[in-house]
Amino acid sequence: MGRYIGPQCRYCRTEHRKLFLKGERCYGAKCPISKKSGAPGKSMKDRPRKMSDYGIQLREKQKVKRMYGMLEKQFKLFFTRAEKMPGVTGDNLVSLLERRLDNMVYRMRFASSRKLGRQIVLHGHVMVNGRRITIPSYVTRENDVVQVAENSKKMLIIKESLKEFTRSGAVPWLDVDPDQMKGTVKALPRKSDVMDLADIKEQLIVELYSR
Ligand code: SF4
Repeated sequence: MGRYIGPQCRYCRTEHRKLFLKGERCYGAKCPISKKSGAPGKSMKDRPRKMSDYGIQLREKQKVKRMYGMLEKQFKLFFTRAEKMPGVTGDNLVSLLERRLDNMVYRMRFASSRKLGRQIVLHGHVMVNGRRITIPSYVTRENDVVQVAENSKKMLIIKESLKEFTRSGAVPWLDVDPDQMKGTVKALPRKSDVMDLADIKEQLIVELYSR
């Protein structure tokens, strides 16, 4: 599948919000959003003051899609899957996105960004319930055990990322053992469990795809 390989920070500037796409850099002074720059090619005062309902819904979808590093086709597939599940579609969508294996690797701090999590999964460094899984969009389930493969535990990039775990801890729906490089999905994730999803308005995405 094709991926966007252009500048990541451009996405954050377009959304006027940190999307945490570049690992450690996103938390430091070098992050351009911390310097309050506007959308690419625009100064702050050039920003449109009013947006149509469609424009607002589209921006919300783009923001979430980019956060999780997905392309339109796959994001729409996740939405369709969320729609077919019992319960509220927006909640289901957030739960599915959070349980993607590349995101799990990021949330468990085996990777400092989702993009790196995707690489780690693709290269076969991650096991789910003892089985090697190389599909970043694989959706984990409650009680699944995700761990770094035995012969990958020496990887510096994973060790460095795990240092972050000790500073910030993991999300409440995961039970992570950083020494064993292993974690369990102890409950299904809810939006309220994750601080960086607090301003996400998933209902706008539902409205967009229901047009
Ligand atoms: Fe760039 Fe990360 Fe800051 Fe976004 S949050 S602008 S990806 S450094």
